[in-house]
Amino acid sequence: MPTKPTVVTTRAELITTLENQRDAHPQQLIGLVMTMGALHDGHLSLVKEIRKHCEYVVVSIFVNPTQFAPGEDFDAYPRQLEKDVELLETVGADLVYAPTPKEVYPNGEARVTINPGPTATVLEGATRPTHFGGVLQVVHKVINLVRPNYAIFGQKDAQQLALIRQMVADLDMPVTIIGAPIVRDPDGLAMSSRNAYLTPEQRAVALNLSKALHAGATTAEQGGTREDILKAAETVISEASAATDSRAPLVLDYIALVDPVSFQPVEHGSAVLAIAAKVGTTRLIDNHLVEVK
Ligand code: AMP
Repeated sequence: MPTKPTVVTTRAELITTLENQRDAHPQQLIGLVMTMGALHDGHLSLVKEIRKHCEYVVVSIFVNPTQFAPGEDFDAYPRQLEKDVELLETVGADLVYAPTPKEVYPNGEARVTINPGPTATVLEGATRPTHFGGVLQVVHKVINLVRPNYAIFGQKDAQQLALIRQMVADLDMPVTIIGAPIVRDPDGLAMSSRNAYLTPEQRAVALNLSKALHAGATTAEQGGTREDILKAAETVISEASAATDSRAPLVLDYIALVDPVSFQPVEHGSAVLAIAAKVGTTRLIDNHLVEVK
């Protein structure tokens, strides 16, 4: 029977708890799962997966202001710490770090920041130019505090995962990064805390993202070229956009077929077929790994 995780909200408590844990169990491997809370089965799958590698699992729950631009959904982002802790108990997390923004950024805006480099300028980075700088800043900070052996991130945020791997390699961070597959609802919609924003009509329209990826992936399996794959995915979205009404408008940001490391366009080999679109005011992302023959 899993026990309730210990919840700490300050850096001092986090450090002391981890010190005590390391003193008592020096051989234990420590795993880190970073989240913004409003947990769903996708997040819980990360905890279950990292448990296979580590005896002690730390989960951070923090809606990180530096990765949101003005006008994005920082204030509206769902917050439900108590429920999250209950969910984490079911998968056996040991320690939850749930700090306030003041605790993470005690001096307000940091003087020293991380430049995420060229991979952060395309796709998500083109639409959200300050996003990945904020993500890498908080990931770097929490990894420094927890000093985990392993940290796990979802393929759902494929560009983020690639950038975290680049940061860990380029800044010689002593942690092993694990990537975890996308968890979907039975109808194919990729799980996301932001799905809670969708009305039932919008949720039905949002299914077109995974349908478009599926169409692209099927074309890839049948030996289609880069152009064929993109066209198959784009057709699903353009037909769906034309069919939707004002209550659930679907507006595509991008469909792209890119290298899984650089996120630059690719013609052949392993690729990420990535999509971003707004359904109403909710921005959703999804992706599928494909082989372009
Ligand atoms: P978030 O709370 O959205 O910042 O996500 C925290 C972590 O969970 C990130 O590593 C995400 O990639 C991962 N994640 C989010 N949604 C899913 C999903 N549907 N399947 C697997 N991992 C996910």
